[in-house]
Amino acid sequence: MSHLEVKAIRPGRPCALSAPREAPTIGLVELTIGKTPVRIRPAFFVVAALMGSGRTDLGLLAVWIAASFLSVLFHEMGHATVGRAFGYTPSVELNERGGVTSFPGAAASLTGLRDIAVSLAGPFAGFLLAGAIHLATLAYDPERLGLHASAFVNDMLWCNVGWGVVNLLPIVPLDGGQVAESLLRMVRPASAKTMASVLSVSTAAALGAWALWRGWTFGALYAGWFAAPSVQALWRARMERGAAADLAMARDALAQGDATAAAEHAHRRFAQARGSLARTVLLDLLAEDPKTETQLATALFHAGHFEDSAATSEHLFERTANPDEAYNVACAFSRLGRVEEAVAWLGRAESAGYQDLAHLEADEDLAPLRAHAGYAELVARLGAPRAGTTSRDGH
Ligand SMILES: [Zn+2]
Repeated sequence: MSHLEVKAIRPGRPCALSAPREAPTIGLVELTIGKTPVRIRPAFFVVAALMGSGRTDLGLLAVWIAASFLSVLFHEMGHATVGRAFGYTPSVELNERGGVTSFPGAAASLTGLRDIAVSLAGPFAGFLLAGAIHLATLAYDPERLGLHASAFVNDMLWCNVGWGVVNLLPIVPLDGGQVAESLLRMVRPASAKTMASVLSVSTAAALGAWALWRGWTFGALYAGWFAAPSVQALWRARMERGAAADLAMARDALAQGDATAAAEHAHRRFAQARGSLARTVLLDLLAEDPKTETQLATALFHAGHFEDSAATSEHLFERTANPDEAYNVACAFSRLGRVEEAVAWLGRAESAGYQDLAHLEADEDLAPLRAHAGYAELVARLGAPRAGTTSRDGH
C-alpha cells in the first residue's frame, strides 16, 4: 500500500477555508473610545456618500455623512457600553454594512436577557440621543445657525430614529433579529436558529411585498438583501443535516471495519456538494472529527474516489501542515492523471518536511509523474545531502 496512512494530527495552522478573510487595511482608522477599540473602514464613508448622493450641495452631503457616522458610532457604543457593564469585552467596527459590535470570546456565553439587553441598547441609545437633540431644538432653534446646522439636526434625528426602528425589525442579523433569536432560544433552544431564520425571511418578504405594492422597487430589493443571510443560513442548515447523516453512516461503517461502505457514504455526500459553499459545509463538518476525516481520505482513495480523497487530504493539510497529507493529495492527483497538480503537491509535501525518497520512488501511484521534469528535480533534491547537515565553507 503506497497511500500513506496518516496517524498523528498535528494541531496548528488555522483552516484557510473556514477562517474569515481579512478585509484590506488601506485607509483603516483604529481608535479607542473609553476602553473599546473602534475600527473604521473607508468603505463606511463610501456607502454613506452613496446613500446621500441625491444631495447636489457638497456641504449638505458632508453634513449627511457626518450625521450617519456619528449616529452609527453612537448606536454601536450603546451595544458596547451595555455589553461592558455585563463584563464582556466589546470591539466596534464601522464598515460597508454599517456598524457591528462584537464580543470576542464571549459571544457564546452571551445568552438570555443579557443578550437581549445588549441588542436593544443600540437602537435605544439612538432614541435617547434623538430625544436629547429634539429637546435641545426646543430650547434653541437650529435654523438660527443656518442651513447646514438645521440639516445636521434633521439628519441626526432621521438616522437615530429611522435606523433604530429598522434595526428593531425581527430580521437576523439586525438587532431585532438577535432579540427574536434570543427569545426563541429561551423557549426552544434546539430550533431557535432555524425559527429565527424563518421569521427573518417572512418579515423581509412581507416588507418586500409591501414595498412593491407601494411601487418602491428599491425598497423591495433592499428587503431581498435583508433576507439573503437568513435564506443562506436555512440552506446551510439543510446541507449540514444531510451531510451529518451521511457522515454518521460512514463513521458507523468505519467502526464495523467496512472502509468500502464508508467511502461510498462519503462519496455520495461529495457528489451532492458540488457548489463551493456546499463543499465548505461538508469539509467543515468532516473537520470536526479529524480521526474519521483521515480514515475517510484513505478509504476514498482505495475506493477510487480520487477527487474526494484529494479534497479531504487537502483540507487536512491546510489545518495540520502534515507533509504526508500533501503527499496523499499528490497521489490522488497522479491517479487522476493531473500531473502538474500532483507534482506541485509533492513540492508542498517537500516544503512541509517530506523526506522519504525510497517510498516516493517505489510508489506506483506516482508512476504517471516519473517523466515529469519537476519530479526528477524533486528526486534529485531529496537524494542530495541536505543543506545544513553537510555544511562546507564556500569556495
Ligand atoms: Zn445594533
